[in-house]
Amino acid sequence: MDSSSSTYRMRLPLVRVTVLAVLLWTAGCATTPSTAPTPSTRHSVVLISIDGLAASALARGNTPNLDRLAAEGVHAAWMNPSYPVLTFPNHFTLVTGLRPDRHGIIHNSMRDDAVGGFKVADKAAGADARWWQGEPIWNTAEKAGLRTAIWAWPGNAAPIDGRRPTRWVPYSPEISSLERADQVAGWLTEPAATRPHLAALYFERVDNVGHDKGPDAPETLAAIREVDAAVGRIMQALDARGLRTSTDLVVVSDHGMAPVAPDQYIALEDMAAFEQAEAVSTGQVIGFNPRPGHEAAAGHRLLGRHDHYQCWRKQDLPARWHYGRHPRVPAIVCQFDEGWNALPAEQLQRVPKDRLNRGSHGYDNTLPSMRAVFVAAGPSFRRGATLPAFDNVDVYPLLATLLGLAPARNDGTADTFAPVLAPRADMPH
Ligand code: AMP
Ligand code: ZN
Ligand code: ZN
Repeated sequence: MDSSSSTYRMRLPLVRVTVLAVLLWTAGCATTPSTAPTPSTRHSVVLISIDGLAASALARGNTPNLDRLAAEGVHAAWMNPSYPVLTFPNHFTLVTGLRPDRHGIIHNSMRDDAVGGFKVADKAAGADARWWQGEPIWNTAEKAGLRTAIWAWPGNAAPIDGRRPTRWVPYSPEISSLERADQVAGWLTEPAATRPHLAALYFERVDNVGHDKGPDAPETLAAIREVDAAVGRIMQALDARGLRTSTDLVVVSDHGMAPVAPDQYIALEDMAAFEQAEAVSTGQVIGFNPRPGHEAAAGHRLLGRHDHYQCWRKQDLPARWHYGRHPRVPAIVCQFDEGWNALPAEQLQRVPKDRLNRGSHGYDNTLPSMRAVFVAAGPSFRRGATLPAFDNVDVYPLLATLLGLAPARNDGTADTFAPVLAPRADMPH
């Protein structure tokens, strides 16, 4: 499905959407606690993700637009990613405020007895609502009658709880960073009657190049400058129409990136024999399901500390990871040390060493290299304020606050942002 047609399809039945919105708004009012703030009609919130942008990449001369945004608003020392430090689990945490163990996207690659297999590249799985548990912010907003427009955020293609964003664009890697920025800027500068109250935008370029070349390679720095310029395009478009004063921009990343030396790869088959256990994933967080009758042997082989990785039964994982209760988490989870990866032996033999990834994430979420970015500016934020590090589960309740909505149940808190929020003229306070 091409992006423009999906956007169009969502726009055509405007009358029906409006009637539905009124009905949903009424329904929303009936279930919303009476203390819930009233959504503003003219204010917009924009959530932008720069996949794989490390907190340490800011203020180094490659991000002039993000640095200006930080000076005009708020930035955190860094934001802690949730475990496991992978793209889909963290993107869905950012928009639900739930830890991966609670929203069900427990890995980029997973298996569910009832639903089947999930892989990031599998479009059908991405569009299957059974994988996506919890309430993404676009549903919280749509339920209250607000318009949302979501550009390729993981989960936006699935009718979660029977709902979709008013407009959504599927993941479209062929569309350049600047073109995406122009599309989203186009939405945000429409007349107030159609302009989205919430827009979200996803950039994968920094992650892609960071994996390929390593976090500090000149190519990665160029990718960072490219995506920074795309964010700058949105700022300019809003500035040109005087809309910065009614638009909150929130820029985040899902995780950072660690360098990987070419010889820091281990064959999956050297961890556990194929006959003993099935590896559900590759990379840095490897889930194994022992094969029936081989449970004891697989446990004996895998559990405990090894050179470059450590394995636990899912119920024994360190508590600080908040991980291991969801049925989709495999029985044994192995966490690799920073800079190390596991791949199938066949892949290690076939791919020349100099073509293997030179950057990876998926390591312990307390490592400095995994720290994510948080920068925000707009009418809701104080100017030039800073925040200490916080967990990324707090972003969903923040977005709900910015939209004037009562958040669904989540693992975070908007209190984190109390010191940096400014009173807004259009909101009761
Ligand atoms: P990873 O680095 O394995 O955590 O996965 C991140 C990569 O997944 C990104 O760099 C994108 O190339 C890709 N990606 C992101 N969103 C999607 C999507 N919705 N569908 C397919 N691939 C995606
Ligand atoms: Zn990512
Ligand atoms: Zn990645």
